[in-house]
Amino acid sequence: LEHFRAQKTCTTCPYCGVGCGVTATVKNRGDEQAASVAGDEQHPANAGRLCVKGSALAETLGEHGRLLRPRLRGRECDWDSAMDFMARQFKRTIAEHGPDSVAFYLSGQLLTEDYYVANKLMKGFIGSGNVDTNSRLCMSSAVAAYKRALGADAVPCCYEDLEEAELVVLVGSNAAWTHPILFQRMQAANAKLVVIDPRASATSEMADLHLAITPGSDGALFNGLLRFLSEVNSLDREFIKNHTENFSQTLDTAGEWTPEKTAEYCGLPLDQLMEFFTLFSHSEKTISFYSQGINQSSSGTDKNNAIINCHLATGRIGKPGAGPFSITGQPNAMGGREVGGLANMLAAHMDFTPENIDRVGRFWRSGSMANKPGLKAVDLFRAIENGEIKAVWIMATNPAVSMPDAGRVARALEKCPLVVVSDCVADTDTARCADLLLPATTWGEKNGTVTNSERRISRQRSFLTPPGEARHDWQIICDLATQMGFGEAFAYTHPVDIFREHAALSGFENQTGKPGSRAFDISALENLSRREYDQLQPVQWPVNSANPEGTQRLFADGRFYTASGRAQFVPVQPRSPEQKRSAEYPLWLNSGRLRDQWHTMTRTGRARKLLDHSELPEIQINPRDAKHWHVDDGQLVEVRSPRGTLCGRAALTGAQKAGELFAPIHWSETLAYRARVSALAEPVTDPYSGQPEFKQLSVQLKPL
Ligand code: SF4
Repeated sequence: LEHFRAQKTCTTCPYCGVGCGVTATVKNRGDEQAASVAGDEQHPANAGRLCVKGSALAETLGEHGRLLRPRLRGRECDWDSAMDFMARQFKRTIAEHGPDSVAFYLSGQLLTEDYYVANKLMKGFIGSGNVDTNSRLCMSSAVAAYKRALGADAVPCCYEDLEEAELVVLVGSNAAWTHPILFQRMQAANAKLVVIDPRASATSEMADLHLAITPGSDGALFNGLLRFLSEVNSLDREFIKNHTENFSQTLDTAGEWTPEKTAEYCGLPLDQLMEFFTLFSHSEKTISFYSQGINQSSSGTDKNNAIINCHLATGRIGKPGAGPFSITGQPNAMGGREVGGLANMLAAHMDFTPENIDRVGRFWRSGSMANKPGLKAVDLFRAIENGEIKAVWIMATNPAVSMPDAGRVARALEKCPLVVVSDCVADTDTARCADLLLPATTWGEKNGTVTNSERRISRQRSFLTPPGEARHDWQIICDLATQMGFGEAFAYTHPVDIFREHAALSGFENQTGKPGSRAFDISALENLSRREYDQLQPVQWPVNSANPEGTQRLFADGRFYTASGRAQFVPVQPRSPEQKRSAEYPLWLNSGRLRDQWHTMTRTGRARKLLDHSELPEIQINPRDAKHWHVDDGQLVEVRSPRGTLCGRAALTGAQKAGELFAPIHWSETLAYRARVSALAEPVTDPYSGQPEFKQLSVQLKPL
């Protein structure tokens, strides 16, 4: 008789920042493992629902395409040789060129425990700030804006707010495809939906009002709204007086944005603009829900602040159904930031100040702390190109596809003296540049925590045996630390050891409740037993002595994390995109995700039911543009920018405005020749956040 053993594990989806709970059931039969997945009915993010990507997770499992053993310069080797090589190279580079000659580049796919030890090793023991992450490309502008306005990288809202709202304003977000479960929650509720997006999308189809604004004009739109709210007496003067600073100057700056001027700048009919303004002014419970269309801009931080200004001016923050709600793209972008995974942060939401460096140094018992911020992603890869960084370890991400001017990034990696890549996948554009490839575990094998867009920490639990010689990222990092002589500080035996230390650091010398205290505080979890960690239920931070059960919504008491305890209005001078259309490059190229695919398709590309795509990216083109450039539907086309070329298949659609194209982000050079959309982007960034401008690339089009 065949013997089957079925085991059910509650874990978290590895795709978008909604962070849905998943139950995985594994049947073991001898050495074989087969899994099925379903939505976790107990998880507050999704209550049993999964989108098409999440429900196909079981189909993406298996060894096909996995990296199973370390490879040193193309040849398989054992782990001892790999780690010995890496440690010697890192030590020699640091001895000869100093700690800032090395760097780690991390990923929102990593678990918080992985992130914590990587950050600790680089900033606490190697002594450099050079740890950055692909979250820089995703929402660093939202972080910078929250810090300017609220004093902390602290999302005020929770998902229940979407159901309590009277009005949801989606800005630069195609949530129906990118955050499907949240969009379903919005649709099930009774709120009016306004979509602000240059292109028509699956989301705008469902909207009560779609404002197809000129790309990049969001800052002006929200300045115009602020002026209008003041004109029609819709401000919450009590809230402004008691809980904020800098309102008058901000309103003065917005003063020039009359409805007529705003409508013209944003390319909108005046009556449509007024309909939105009136709806906003009349809806006490308003959520502004925004994503990459706002963040991936050379003025992304200001755009975020223009939105937040309107919420502060109406007191619509910290209340049920109201707030500025930035939505994360990746499953653990927020968890990475909690530990300090951005180069400009030290650890546990602490910036690089002398007091913080001293505090964290004492906590880590380190005498070789980094004393200044490291390089943000675009600058980090520039430093690799110009030889300042001579050794880089890239974990679970593919910058040779995702960075702006991606071809140049790939060339910089090829000439870097040491490139280490740890990944679960054997062949990626970045892996092809590696001297040393390290096999890492992936979803279903990893064990730790992630934080979703509403600050909810959930467990990712393992239910599969890692294939080949794959190791957990935190173990590989601790092995390197030990070989470099820091073993005592990295003697963890299980992710719970790391989590407890991370939780303890979050509360270390944190003056909870006082102005200037740190928002991220999970000190109530610092003594979890292994059993309690295994059984940890999803919980929203802060989780501390004042809020031992977690915190659904921030700022309900009108106190903020700034030095004064008051929220800050930020005057915004709208700026156009840096990448300008010209006679030579007369079109704008926008980019984004498809409904059924994720990042570079290394996982979703394996599921048959998600594989409804062509071998080439589809370039969406307005029929008028197609006629002008002699392009037929389905024809191969070339899109060219000053930086690079993208080849794809034309898809004619009225959803694109004339003068604007759209291409998906998922294709890489390993899938098709000249299919990377990021290769066309200029490496221009927001001055506050360092986030690159990906949404408005100036290009030309021709048939092939
Ligand atoms: Fe996964 Fe996001 Fe879909 Fe939820 S909405 S199942 S987190 S991809």
